[in-house]
Amino acid sequence: MTEPSAVFEDEYRELLDSFGAFVRRELEPLAAELGEGGHPSHELCSYVRQRSAQLGFYAGDYPESLGGSDMPFSAVVALQHAAGRTGCRLAPYALAGSEGPSPLLLGGTDEQIKRYLEPLVRGQRTRCLALTEPDAGSDAFRLTTTADRVDGGWVISGRKTFVSNAAHADLVLVVAAVRTPAGQRRPAVFLLEQGHPGMRLGQRYEGMSGEVLHELVLDAAEVPDEALLGDGDAPDALGASMGSLSRGRLMVAAMCNGIAEYALSLGVEYARHRRAFGRPIGDYQHVQEHLVTSRAELEASKVLTLACARLVDSGVEPPENAALAKLTASTMAVRVVDRALQVHGATGWVRGHPLEFLYRQVRTMTIIEGTTEIQKVIIAGAMGLG
Ligand SMILES: Cc1cc2nc3c(=O)[nH]c(=O)nc-3n(C[C@H](O)[C@H](O)[C@H](O)COP(=O)(O)OP(=O)(O)OC[C@H]3O[C@@H](n4cnc5c(N)ncnc54)[C@H](O)[C@@H]3O)c2cc1C
Repeated sequence: MTEPSAVFEDEYRELLDSFGAFVRRELEPLAAELGEGGHPSHELCSYVRQRSAQLGFYAGDYPESLGGSDMPFSAVVALQHAAGRTGCRLAPYALAGSEGPSPLLLGGTDEQIKRYLEPLVRGQRTRCLALTEPDAGSDAFRLTTTADRVDGGWVISGRKTFVSNAAHADLVLVVAAVRTPAGQRRPAVFLLEQGHPGMRLGQRYEGMSGEVLHELVLDAAEVPDEALLGDGDAPDALGASMGSLSRGRLMVAAMCNGIAEYALSLGVEYARHRRAFGRPIGDYQHVQEHLVTSRAELEASKVLTLACARLVDSGVEPPENAALAKLTASTMAVRVVDRALQVHGATGWVRGHPLEFLYRQVRTMTIIEGTTEIQKVIIAGAMGLG
């Protein structure tokens, strides 16, 4: 049976098959040692990342001159989906996420690209993005972290929160408000290496799926002029970040579609074999309803995400497209995982069952890269509302 979404995947079939084979042969045996609910260690993630970079999967959409594979963005989105549908807990670490090369760095000087972006593309180093603040989450650019000019550089002060990979990142992208010549504040990005004097980890947060986030405190951290991303006097980070936000959202959408596909496959398999009242539970229409509705929603979401990724490759990148895909895929994945767990009854609820983990993991997806409500705000704006 050919699914409608295969239209968008067929071109990358060979790539997707070889990624699937890599996951099966190399990552699944390592994942089997993780234990229930265990989060992979920093060392294991580094190994997976570097091995995947060697094979050409990691950060594949970056240019070969930087260590990437010059893949179209839609191929990377298809890989992201493939990683989710394997169900292997290590597969997402084989592809660049929030610890990998940031498209923001493409706006850097030649020296910054060579020094910071290239090792990220090669998987040799990782980074984090310190944007969110205790009083600036969805309203991300209402910053109280400031960077003020001093002789030969800048002094950065403020408090960032919920930063992924903050404890291990070699490079920290700090978004701080600088003063324009007209005296207004606007966001700019500064590049600080781990251990920079005046920057330290604050509160540690452990999320429901085991992911660890941190506060980052900037206590009058002095940085040289070269720490400011880009040429000139503080290029506008708000403008530069828009494209990178859209691409990040499409990657999250693809990951959600992949997770949903895996959850649905578990649900269908279980419904075919589990028996109740003398028949497989898949014979009952209430159970079919969970699985059929999930399949329809998943296929529609997948087509939408892959089509938006194709449009990015043809230079069409309005923010509302990524918002539509992220809104659709993340809310769909939460529902599909919930239904698949329901089909499993108590079996899916038990600690250590794949669905129990997915249930906690997928809940993150309607919050990261802009909440569901913020995607709706973007779409409403594009419809001329609000
Ligand atoms: C797993 C995880 C990883 C993260 N990693 C990072 C990271 O690496 N770097 C980083 O900087 N941040 C990171 N974050 C933070 C994330 O970006 C924020 O949590 C997110 O932007 C939402 O902000 P908030 O949590 O402050 O919620 P708030 O902005 O306080 O929102 C609370 C609620 O109000 C709603 N709301 C807010 N404004 C509106 C509006 N205008 N209309 C309708 N509803 C609205 C929201 O949708 C939400 O439901 C991470 C978060 C998580 C969970």
